[in-house]
Amino acid sequence: MGGGKGRSVSPPVLAVISMIGFVYYSTVFVFIDGWLGLDTAPGLLNSVIFTWLAFMCLFSFFAAVLSDPGGVPPSFAPETEDPQKDGECLKYCDKCSTYKPPRTHHCRVCRRCVLKMDHHCVWISNCVGYANYKPFIICVFHAAITSIYSMVIFFAGIIEKYQDLERLSNKIFCVLCGSVISLLSLTLGSLLGWHIYLLTHNITTIEYRMAVRAMWLAKKSGQTYQHRYNIGIYNNLVSILGPNILKWLWPTAVGHLKDGTHFPTVEVNDQSPDQPVSCKEYHG
Ligand SMILES: [Zn+2]
Ligand SMILES: [Zn+2]
Repeated sequence: MGGGKGRSVSPPVLAVISMIGFVYYSTVFVFIDGWLGLDTAPGLLNSVIFTWLAFMCLFSFFAAVLSDPGGVPPSFAPETEDPQKDGECLKYCDKCSTYKPPRTHHCRVCRRCVLKMDHHCVWISNCVGYANYKPFIICVFHAAITSIYSMVIFFAGIIEKYQDLERLSNKIFCVLCGSVISLLSLTLGSLLGWHIYLLTHNITTIEYRMAVRAMWLAKKSGQTYQHRYNIGIYNNLVSILGPNILKWLWPTAVGHLKDGTHFPTVEVNDQSPDQPVSCKEYHG
């Protein structure tokens, strides 16, 4: 949790918290209140559901911000001198003076090696890696659902009370809210779709970028690209979200995580004429 305090007060993190507060206030106290009324059963039900979603959004956001994404354990040592055992390359980080376990990359922003690094996320002021990928994706999930829910309530209220727009709220405020929430829904919905793809294929953003050429070569030669860590959709989900399906959406239920230096793999065809995908350095 080192550095967590500093991260939690950085400008992008404060911007995200302010945005959650803005969307929450607008949705509950303007849209739901203006459309259904907070003193009616449907209004109360919608505001309770929305409050829960907003709480989960904030909770998983803080879990992603404050969790250590995972560093190379001091005790980590390569098991073999063979640099390409089982098609996996052993890489050495000159900056950290340590061997990098499989799927580990050096983050220039964090200035350290991060286990199963996905990307460095400015919005959480933290790397997304082995130990905080679950809270990150659960945060994206709740943020997307919350935005889309808010957008539906906003437009439903506008359509229903179109004749009564003046009394519903200030017109400029409505246009501003509608634009912000529509843009958020589109962005977060796309981000969620992308991470569901990565999650179900057990591939990180960095690995995907590195595999683009191998995918193209495989397609060109009539083959299908196989990712060595893709062990089947259900096993991929379990390895990241945990074995208990009831805890899949709980961001801090990460007891199933190990030290992040070993990952089960599957046999893959020779996909690239030059070198295994995992051997290529990431320069992004
Ligand atoms: Zn490093
Ligand atoms: Zn980083």
